[in-house]
Amino acid sequence: MAQEIAPSPKVGMVSLGCPKALVDSERILTRLRADGYSMSADYEGADVVLVNTCGFLDSAKEESLDAIGEAIAENGRVIVTGCMGNEAELIRAKYPDVLAVTGAHQYEQVVDAVHEAAPAARGPFVDLVPQPDVKLTPRHYSYLKISEGCNHSCAFCIIPDLRGKLASRRIDAVLREAEKLVAAGTKELLVISQDTSAYGVDVRHEERMWKGQPVRTHMTDLARELGQLRTPQNEVPWVRLHYVYPYPHVDAVIPLMAEGLLTPYLDIPFQHASPNVLRAMKRPANEAKVLERLKGWRDICPDIAVRSSFVVGFPGETEDDFRYLLDWLEEAQLDRVGGFRFEPVEGAQANALPNPVPEEVKEERYTRLMEVTERISAAKLAAKVGRTVPVIIDEVGEPDEDGDIGATGRSQADAPEIDGSVFLRNVPATLAQGDIVNATIEEADAHDLFGFIA
Ligand code: SF4
Repeated sequence: MAQEIAPSPKVGMVSLGCPKALVDSERILTRLRADGYSMSADYEGADVVLVNTCGFLDSAKEESLDAIGEAIAENGRVIVTGCMGNEAELIRAKYPDVLAVTGAHQYEQVVDAVHEAAPAARGPFVDLVPQPDVKLTPRHYSYLKISEGCNHSCAFCIIPDLRGKLASRRIDAVLREAEKLVAAGTKELLVISQDTSAYGVDVRHEERMWKGQPVRTHMTDLARELGQLRTPQNEVPWVRLHYVYPYPHVDAVIPLMAEGLLTPYLDIPFQHASPNVLRAMKRPANEAKVLERLKGWRDICPDIAVRSSFVVGFPGETEDDFRYLLDWLEEAQLDRVGGFRFEPVEGAQANALPNPVPEEVKEERYTRLMEVTERISAAKLAAKVGRTVPVIIDEVGEPDEDGDIGATGRSQADAPEIDGSVFLRNVPATLAQGDIVNATIEEADAHDLFGFIA
């Protein structure tokens, strides 16, 4: 007799915040799918909606609360998770109807809450079918999260309170996940954590076996092994390292970049350059020789792109400190820079620091910072005109009235979401997302490049 299987309950997901939160959302959805749930792309079709929140800045909290409000209004059955989950009282005071509130990385709790809100219909085969991982990023790039939490205590940051001390994943598990992603079509891996250079410190860089050889839980071993991966087409996938603090061992990964085994790109969150401000910020790896090291890296790998972010208007930042930063940037010639005006975060030590910088001064410094960094970026990009560089395709457009097709991609100097794009004209109709092509650059502006397939 045929057994009727009840339709699987549907889960909607609103994922806010940084790439690390996105990886959490993917993990939760992968787990739920293995438990027999399916995904709903809209509020109406969902039996329950998960809102993965961000609570880093006050503006992010506002956005998270708005998203919870919208989900309640549109669907009514809402479970909150993520960084703001640590403020359950605040959420419940505003939205007493939320079904459950769980914190960041509480995968078990959030999955249990979904089971309670919308019990899974367990068909006889559901548990036997291996399910591919759910990915919320396009298939051609994937975030690879190597650790949670952080052992530092930067004055402006509450991540260690929200996410706890550094907890590194096993290196064999990370490499297995990377291998699986690449076999499934990922062409670009983005290694993320709160502090990639500190990977493995918490487990004393313990060794694990990988492909018959011992590998240490360490950034350089990880980078070396990731450089050995090959796509099904036998290409070297792009591997980008994010949130790298310039500890001495970072020098060891630069030759891998020069050899083409690791994408020549480093995302280093410098935040400032003035020793006074860095001290007040309590930043890790705050050392004077960074400019020399940058020069050394460029000698080994001239194409290395360095991206960073900077905060202006930190309490106590003087005009001299700010000018020091501008001079430092002129010397450092970073490829990509994100600028932020200091914003107090509830619970951060920096809030108690004296000499807050008035808003109008912050604004003025921010404008000056952007002027300098845009000028540097424009000059660096202009120097690429006439060169042929590899470009990964993110999107292929529709033919225009003349039948020409354009495509948007990124060079190795551009991480998705945060850096620039390469716009290609007259691409072949066969071009697909994830293809890596050689493109000749014919034009540049302050952020993006323009060209054609070589
Ligand atoms: S290194 Fe500093 S800014 Fe980064 S997560 Fe840790 S405490 Fe926060």
